[in-house]
Amino acid sequence: MSSDVQLSLFDNSQNTSFATDSIPTNVKIPIPPGTYQNIEQIGEHCNRCHRCELGNTRTHAVIGRGNPQAKILIVGEAPGQNEDETGLPFVGRSGQLLDKILESVGLNTETDVFIANVIKCRPPNNRPPTVKEIEACKPYLLEQIRILDPKIILLTGATALKGLLSDKRPISKIRGQWIEWENRLCMPIFHPSYLLRNPSREPETPKWFMWQDMQLIKAKFDEFKTVT
Ligand code: SF4
Repeated sequence: MSSDVQLSLFDNSQNTSFATDSIPTNVKIPIPPGTYQNIEQIGEHCNRCHRCELGNTRTHAVIGRGNPQAKILIVGEAPGQNEDETGLPFVGRSGQLLDKILESVGLNTETDVFIANVIKCRPPNNRPPTVKEIEACKPYLLEQIRILDPKIILLTGATALKGLLSDKRPISKIRGQWIEWENRLCMPIFHPSYLLRNPSREPETPKWFMWQDMQLIKAKFDEFKTVT
């Protein structure tokens, strides 16, 4: 073996720490499982990230709120104005309704769930995130899921469903169904903002369906509580 080849065996210019430093600035750098040790490290990268153009206009990246040890992860779409300003997900009217929905079945927002989004930075004028933006940001979400290790993932709205599971079916068709993914149970549910626009509680309305879905979720949560 030539001395050049021998030296190249010890060349660490391509090592993972070099690549990790480039994650927030280069969308071509992959984010393999195990890149981050905790949620704070993901937040540090997201807050200086320009893997997509949303990094140019955000005030704060929105990483999550709640209990990192919780069995339930709730995944929403993307930050809105309130979230961009505070750095916290679901803090506007939708967030208040989500908290009420959880409370109605005895789930506590601070202790029983962790809440995050598919996209960490606010799309201008609250437009839906593009496929390119979702793909750029998705590895951060996958790392969040690996670290949080939730048993149950609730996907609120079509973007969350499409973003995580690449499932393009409408929420109205598959809400309330358990979908197995990576050894976890996922359930698509209506987004709280959709429920704000559809306030009726009559049978077979979105709010009524949400109530049915929450009963199923609470029952599964209780099952997991008894086996662990
Ligand atoms: S949305 Fe995600 S990928 Fe885009 S800049 Fe923000 S953190 Fe980076």
